Amino acid sequence: MKTEIPYDRFAHVPERIFGLVDLAYNLWWSWHSSASVLFKMLNRAEWKMSRHNPVRMLLDTPPRFFERAAANPEYLRRYDIIMHRFGEYMVPGTSWFAQHYPSRTPLTIAYLSSEFGLHHSLPFYAGGLGILAGDHVKASSDLGVPTVAVGFMYAEGYLHQHIEADGWQKNVAEILDRDAAPVLRVMGDDGKQLVVQVPLIDPPIYVAVWKVQVGRVPLYLLDTHIDENLPENRNISHRLYLKELECRLRQELVLGIGGRKVLHTLGVEYSAMHLNEGHSAFSLLERLRERLVAGMPPDEAREQVRGTSVFTTHTPVPAAHDVFPEDLMAKYFRSYCPSLDLAWDEFMALGDDPHNPGAGFNMTAFALRMSRFHNGVSKKHGEVAREMWQPLWPDLPPEEVPIDAVTNGVHVPTWLNHRIEALIDRYMDPDYPNWREDYDNPIIWEVVDEIPDEELWREHQWLKMKLFSRIRDRKRRKWAGHQGEPANLAAEGLMLDTSALTIGFARRFAEYKRADLIFEDLDRLDRIVNNRWRPVQFIFAGKAHPADDRGKRILQKIYQYSQDPRFGGRIAFIEDYGEQVARYMVHGVDVWMNTPVPLMEASGTSGMKAGMNGVLNLSVLDGWWVEGYNGRNGWGFEGHAASPGDNRADAETIYDLIENEVAPLYYSRTMDDVPHKWVRMMRESIKSIAPQYCSLRMLKEYVTRYYPSVCRYAAGPGEQLAGLEGVCPPGPAPRMR
Ligand SMILES: *Cc1c(COP(=O)(O)O)cnc(C)c1O
Repeated sequence: MKTEIPYDRFAHVPERIFGLVDLAYNLWWSWHSSASVLFKMLNRAEWKMSRHNPVRMLLDTPPRFFERAAANPEYLRRYDIIMHRFGEYMVPGTSWFAQHYPSRTPLTIAYLSSEFGLHHSLPFYAGGLGILAGDHVKASSDLGVPTVAVGFMYAEGYLHQHIEADGWQKNVAEILDRDAAPVLRVMGDDGKQLVVQVPLIDPPIYVAVWKVQVGRVPLYLLDTHIDENLPENRNISHRLYLKELECRLRQELVLGIGGRKVLHTLGVEYSAMHLNEGHSAFSLLERLRERLVAGMPPDEAREQVRGTSVFTTHTPVPAAHDVFPEDLMAKYFRSYCPSLDLAWDEFMALGDDPHNPGAGFNMTAFALRMSRFHNGVSKKHGEVAREMWQPLWPDLPPEEVPIDAVTNGVHVPTWLNHRIEALIDRYMDPDYPNWREDYDNPIIWEVVDEIPDEELWREHQWLKMKLFSRIRDRKRRKWAGHQGEPANLAAEGLMLDTSALTIGFARRFAEYKRADLIFEDLDRLDRIVNNRWRPVQFIFAGKAHPADDRGKRILQKIYQYSQDPRFGGRIAFIEDYGEQVARYMVHGVDVWMNTPVPLMEASGTSGMKAGMNGVLNLSVLDGWWVEGYNGRNGWGFEGHAASPGDNRADAETIYDLIENEVAPLYYSRTMDDVPHKWVRMMRESIKSIAPQYCSLRMLKEYVTRYYPSVCRYAAGPGEQLAGLEGVCPPGPAPRMR
């Protein structure tokens, strides 16, 4: 089995800078801004045209561009530095992990997730869960935690959002050109792309295997869009989260059972598995089955699988947990079940939800029963999850239910704007050149106090202008392409004013996120937006799930308000929210607003991205903000929603905060036109949020609290024993039915 970069397709790249090809196929470049500059300098127009996909760009760039670069000493100097840094990075043995766990037999974690948000050239994510998984993998690479990730090749992962004149969301599919993207075919011994059969499923399902290299971490992607499959099975991996239950079950079979099988076939050895949400939980069945086939006694096999699994649950919204009815399970698992040494009822009982006995196979209940460590994604969510799943541990009071919390964090090199990074560099102690590898250390961020107000404010203004010019640029292209309606020019941000206080709201249009909260009282909103001395603007972005008409209606409502002349073009909606738009928004608005129904937001991560760039959070105290808010780094308030749809009280609170606190602070200027008190809050935001809500802190928690403990067994085929230090005592066993 091997993956090789198809070097022969790059014969037009000169020897002297041929390393660009290796760089293009490793996403390491995407979180090192100086590396992306190499691509940009080579061919600026093509870089933009390819939407920052270096593989496509290198393929499409004519030889004279390469010759010019290879003759340019400045280019070569940069090239040599970057290639040196890249080479150093890829050397094992220099990482945090290698330093802290030197004597340990290799511990490798298999990390499974249904989505991975890594970069906008790879459409393998829908929202926050995917971006989190992407950030987790990048942090694993940075820290050198041996990890192998498994996900899907969603060739049609990007559904671009196009808003019609009446505000209705249309989805335009874009098919990934796999041969011009930073993905590699994994080849079998026969010289053809490796194809693996998902075990025991009838009729059979096959997956082809791809690989994306994320720094030091390989991510294997499963692809069912191949001739070997029956037509009805080809689309299993084509799009994210198929709505129809049976399609969804098949997706999860492929990810869990197929994913495990692929690792086995590749000969990847790992010591434990980390399931990012329940979609991949069938992998636990396959690991159990393999042990039984190898002759292990059932009790021991089950204890081993449990003992080597970590499960992270990501949502308190009941409808977001997959439940498959018994007849559907029977269709796919009747033939599988006997090999688990379980009677059918015992099998179904593994996924029984005590709140809803007999309703079907609940993937979260199953994953909780079959994993050793389970965690929510913020302290508050841990509490909510303990309460929610207490019936699985009927003898324990909720506070003793063994569901822990590891608060999410975001990958700082991906989300911190490079201009803010450069500002930090300028003031950082020269004795601390490696601060970028240590950014979960709060001491580093104290440097923010050294930056003069004027300078921090100037950088922020620059980023805000950049956002506004992006918005206008997109709008102009749409208009020039005869796709825009005049009425929508205002709605889509043409009249935004860089000097006005700008509040951003961007996330999926799930109902509980209450994107439309500020439209509760239109007269009040009118007064706020059109305040003569202290005008306020709102920029919205976000996609509704293609099958979610309620979400689409909320979006339409907001879009229609943004078209209303009454609001003077100060409410805007930006199309096609994704990682790229998210990046501009979390860098460039003044305030990041979040208004979920209380207790529904497990964590939320966009506010972390904003906060570390000095964008102030204004949010319901829910999810991560319960612990992130310190009274000086933004605004937080207790949400009230007495009944679904009762949004009045929270809307009033938001209006009051904006009118009485946020706008006065923003507009209180001294002679130098700098809002010094605001800048003080920006500093506090960066300092308090960056070191704590970063993926290094998060990953180190997973490593120190769970990973060594789940790596103590070694008997599964293709699984290996890691060191035994630091093993936690086993937690209480959950109720099986
Ligand atoms: C960070 C991010 C999210 C997550 O946002 P929430 O705050 O959890 O709603 C979703 N989508 C994209 C593109 C992101 O970058």
